[in-house]
Amino acid sequence: MDKIVKSIASSGYFRAFVLDCTETVRTAQEKHQTQASSTVALGRTLIANQILAANQKGDSKVTVKVIGDSSFGHIISVANSKGEVKGYIQNKGVDIKKTATGEVLVGPFMGNGHFVTIVDYGTGNPYTSTTPLISGEIGEDLAYYLTESEQTPSAVGLNVLLDKEDKVQVAGGFMLQVLPGAPEHEITRYEERIQKMPAISSLLASEDHISALLDAIYGEDDYKLLDESPLSFHCDCSKERFEQALITLPKTDLSEMKEEDQGAEINCQFCGTTYYFTENDLEKLINDKA
Ligand SMILES: [Zn+2]
Repeated sequence: MDKIVKSIASSGYFRAFVLDCTETVRTAQEKHQTQASSTVALGRTLIANQILAANQKGDSKVTVKVIGDSSFGHIISVANSKGEVKGYIQNKGVDIKKTATGEVLVGPFMGNGHFVTIVDYGTGNPYTSTTPLISGEIGEDLAYYLTESEQTPSAVGLNVLLDKEDKVQVAGGFMLQVLPGAPEHEITRYEERIQKMPAISSLLASEDHISALLDAIYGEDDYKLLDESPLSFHCDCSKERFEQALITLPKTDLSEMKEEDQGAEINCQFCGTTYYFTENDLEKLINDKA
């Protein structure tokens, strides 16, 4: 099962989240039938969103929109504080081959654009924040957002490794944050360690990648594990929810669907599930409206 592990340096100056999101990204790939690069781009966005949601308290919902001007188009995802995330990529067929080292390129096909986050605390006043895409590689864009918009200096590494058939082999990442009061020389020490850190893909490839990531982040320094909680891909759509949306349409539109199309077929963008509404279903909605 996927999980997020929260930890803090014994010095109290740094904290880190480490994530295993393999099943989350595998489920997303299966539901959306994404190709090599679109799987990695969507997967990284889902991981970024799970990091942001884990940063919230209570029943908050966090939406991440990565809006690019290149091949992928936009990527939209929504995560809640229970560790559930759903999401989709606009152009799921983007299938750019790996480089010689096996890495899948994301940034050039994301292009220029924005990293948008919307935090909904459930109070009806969602908080939106927008930062420019720095590289389009998603991890760096999230780090920039956290440092600039949330004013917390952060380092982020996230990735999705594909097997020979371009199926998800492993997915995950980390976020390291500097806490208030950390002395300069301590920050420099951590910065140097992060810069020398092995590639995320090689850490993810190790047998126990949660430990591999924690060891790479903290080195010889002591740290405490604070919390561990499950993560998953989960869409909260249902036929009832789409019924609620259909009933807001004008009666003439509903009649048209019934008479001319003999029913309606609605596809959930977030998980690809299709819901069918028969002539009888539509007739019932029209009567309910009256
Ligand atoms: Zn759905």
